[in-house]
Amino acid sequence: MVQVIEWVNPGEDEIIWRYPNEVIKWGAQLIVHEYEVAVFMRDGKIYDVLGPGRHTLTTQNLPLLYKLVGGSNSPFKATVIFVSMKQFQGRYGGETQTRELAPVKYYGVYWFKVADPVLFITEVVGGQSLYEASDVTKFIRAYFNEGMMKHLSAYSIVDLFQNLDMVSTQVKVKLIEDFRRLGLELVDVKIEGVNTTDEWRQRLFWIMQTGNAQAVMQMDTAKQVAAELGKSEGAAMGTGMVIMPQLLQQPAQPAQPAQPYAGGGVPPAGYQQPAQPGAPAQAAGQEICPYCGKPIPPGARFCPYCGHQIHRCPNGHIVPEGAKFCPVCGAKIE
Ligand SMILES: [Zn+2]
Ligand SMILES: [Zn+2]
Repeated sequence: MVQVIEWVNPGEDEIIWRYPNEVIKWGAQLIVHEYEVAVFMRDGKIYDVLGPGRHTLTTQNLPLLYKLVGGSNSPFKATVIFVSMKQFQGRYGGETQTRELAPVKYYGVYWFKVADPVLFITEVVGGQSLYEASDVTKFIRAYFNEGMMKHLSAYSIVDLFQNLDMVSTQVKVKLIEDFRRLGLELVDVKIEGVNTTDEWRQRLFWIMQTGNAQAVMQMDTAKQVAAELGKSEGAAMGTGMVIMPQLLQQPAQPAQPAQPYAGGGVPPAGYQQPAQPGAPAQAAGQEICPYCGKPIPPGARFCPYCGHQIHRCPNGHIVPEGAKFCPVCGAKIE
């Protein structure tokens, strides 16, 4: 009976398959389907590689193994690993920290395929001793995630939330390079979402509103400030309008409040009419989206650029997501 070596009915997600019998006879039939490669290994070392087709194993098409077994025609020991050259899809998700150590969760999808089966077998299958498809898939996902984590942590929270397209493009280039080292081609990457904690979302809000990341970072927590500002009408006027201008009067980087003083009457001590040029694109009365930084129509409920919901107090001021009180007027938010 002729020995037949064939990967029968590969599963949708199976990237490799090991032929279970390690004793190979000369004259055996090796069937390699389209988008497959058969790799002959022994003691963790790759010898011969055969592409798609129906092969009768001879001393001709396995010259390196034949040489290894000393030109003997008796059965020899080898591991045959089939590699699928098809494209695979993987999902990823994880947590990392931005440059300012803001916690960030991210998730999305990526597509990859084997580009160099010999390098792939050397680095992943042989190198990590992973001979099961599910273990290989797990390893690739962890490798992708590790790279994503590392590359994202080089960015600031504003970049991640305001310039995600730019970040995605740059991170993809780095991940493609990482994958190439494993003999894999990273075909595409999609970041479907990034998220952070309530506290950091509120900080982000203030960074976007004031254009001054440094000042916001110096605050204990933006949430505390927002709560402090919102304790009561009086507190909002007394504390809020004093704290905010301090925040906004960083000498190094002049910025201006998102909202002109709206309290009526005499502005409290410390309040300065915003007049500095060079602040974020915010003409008088112009509102900006706290999520993408683009100007939005007055009173807009959703940003026409990024689609994010714009949260407002009953008096129409833009407020951070999840805020209990308006930091500008102190009104309670339902
Ligand atoms: Zn927006
Ligand atoms: Zn308000």
